[in-house]
Amino acid sequence: MRAALRDHAGVISVHHNSSRTRRLLTAAGLAAAALAASLPAGAQAGAAAASVPPPRTSTPAEARTAAWLDAHPKEAARFYRDMPKGGDLHNHLSGAVRTEYLIQLAAEDGLCIDATTTAVAPPCAAGTRPAADALTDAAFRQRIVRAWSMQDFPQNESGHDHFFATFGKFGAATSHRGKMLADVAGTAAAQNQSYLETMVSPASDGAKQLAADVGWDADLAALHRKLLAGGRLDQLVATAKQEADTADAEFRDTARCATGNPGPACRITVRWISQVSRNSAPERVFTQIALGLRLAERDQRFVAVNLVQPEDGEISLRDYRLHMRMLDYLHGLYPAAHITLHAGELVPGLVKPEDLTFHIDDAVRTGRAERIGHGVDLVHENGWQRLARDMARRQIAVEVPLTSNAQILQVEGDEHPFPVYRKYGVPVVLSTDDPGVSRGDIGQEYRRAARTYGLGYPELKDLARASLEYSFLPGRSLWRSDPVRQGFRPVEECRALDSARCARFTARNPKARLELLQERSFRTFEARYTG
Ligand SMILES: [Zn+2]
Repeated sequence: MRAALRDHAGVISVHHNSSRTRRLLTAAGLAAAALAASLPAGAQAGAAAASVPPPRTSTPAEARTAAWLDAHPKEAARFYRDMPKGGDLHNHLSGAVRTEYLIQLAAEDGLCIDATTTAVAPPCAAGTRPAADALTDAAFRQRIVRAWSMQDFPQNESGHDHFFATFGKFGAATSHRGKMLADVAGTAAAQNQSYLETMVSPASDGAKQLAADVGWDADLAALHRKLLAGGRLDQLVATAKQEADTADAEFRDTARCATGNPGPACRITVRWISQVSRNSAPERVFTQIALGLRLAERDQRFVAVNLVQPEDGEISLRDYRLHMRMLDYLHGLYPAAHITLHAGELVPGLVKPEDLTFHIDDAVRTGRAERIGHGVDLVHENGWQRLARDMARRQIAVEVPLTSNAQILQVEGDEHPFPVYRKYGVPVVLSTDDPGVSRGDIGQEYRRAARTYGLGYPELKDLARASLEYSFLPGRSLWRSDPVRQGFRPVEECRALDSARCARFTARNPKARLELLQERSFRTFEARYTG
C-alpha cells in the first residue's frame, strides 16, 4: 500500500487549484440540456422507447415494500442500509477505509502527525505529535478527520483539491492491506452487500523498477518480450501473489474468519483489481498493465486492471490514445483478463475542449473496456448517441459514484449523465469510489439516486441486481442476456429459483450463485414489509 500512497501522492502534484475547478460549475452544461438540444423531441422519445422498456410492473411484495417506504420517510436511512445492494464494483481500497480506523492504524504503527496533518514515519520530531495522541485527544482527532476526509468541508466549495490531498496525508497509514480490507468488507456487510471488487497497486515498487530497467520501446511486442526476459515479469506476478497471501491472512485474522465467531466481513466475496498509474512514464504504464493482466490470468483473486490517477493529469492526457493501444495489444496476449477503465471523469474547464470528445469512446473501442468508471463527460463526446447505443448493445456498464462526482467534479442532479445512460439502456451500477474520504456509504448512493432521479424500489432493486450481473465474477449469470433492457428473467435452469436444477446450476457458476443468494435476501427483506 506504500505504492498506492505514492500513486495518490502523485495526484496532488498534477491537480489543479480550486479556482480552476470552480469554473466547472457554470461550464458543465451536461446531460439533460445536451440531450434535449441534440435530438428533436420526437427522435428523443423514439430513441428512448426503442431501447428501454417502460418501468417494469412490481410484484406484490415489491409494491408493499415501496408503499412502506413512502409511508415511513424517517426510516429511509435504515431502509437503504438494510436493502440488499449486491456488489461495489468501483472502490479504491485505501480511500474506502473509515478515517477513524486509519487513525487507529497510524497509532498502532507508531506514526507521527506533522504540521500539515500528514502521517509520517517515527520518531516524532519537533513540530510533530504521535498519532496515538488522537485516541485520547478529541480535538486533535477531529483535526485529523477533517484533513483526511470531506468531514465538515463546506458544501458550496469545490472539494477537488481537498479530496485528492487526503491520500497523501493518510498514505503512510495504509500499509496493512488485510486490515484495511477487513474494515471495508465489514462496512459492505453492514450495508447488506455480498461482493466487492477493490483496487490496489500490486508489486508496485518492483513494477516501477522493471519499467525503469527496460525503458521505453514503441514496438510493444519487443517491449513485452523485454519484460518477460529472465522471468522478471513472472517474478512480479509472484510478488503480487505473496502480497495477496499476506493480505488474505491478515484479513482473516482481523475479521476472525477462522474462529467460531467470524466477523460479518468474512461473508463478503472479494476480488482485486490491479491499478495502473496512468500519469507516469509509458514504460511504467505498459509494465503495470502487463503485470495486472498476467496476474489476472494466473491468480483468480485478481480479475482486472484499471487505469487510475487523474484522467486530466498532464501525461494521462498526452498519452491517452497510447494507453488505449497498449491495452488493445496486451488484451490480445491476455484475453481472459478483464479491463475496466476510468474514462470521462472530466468536465468542461478541467481540460481543453477536444479532450472531452473521445475518452469513453476510445476506452470501449480501442482500450477494450468492459466497464467504464464515471463516464461523466458522455454528452461532450463526438457521436455520443451512437456511443451510448453501442454501450447498451454491448452491455458495457458504467460505474457511477454520485457522491464522488458531486464532491470532486461538482456534477450532480440534472448535470449528471446518470439518467441519460439509463435512457439509452446502458447498464448502470452504483458504486462508492472512496467512501472513507467521502464519509459516505453505498446506502447513501442508493438513497441519493432514488431522491435525485425519482427511482422507485423496483428500479433500485434492479440496480442492485446489475451490480452483480456486471461484476467480473466467473461463470454464467442467473439472468438471461441483456437484463437491463429486457428485464431480469431467470435462465431456463432457474425458472424455479428453489429447484434442485437451479441449485446444481448455481453450484457451477459463482456469479449465478451470488445472484441467487441476493434474490433470497430480497425475499427476506421484502417480507419485513408485508405485515
Ligand atoms: Zn475511482
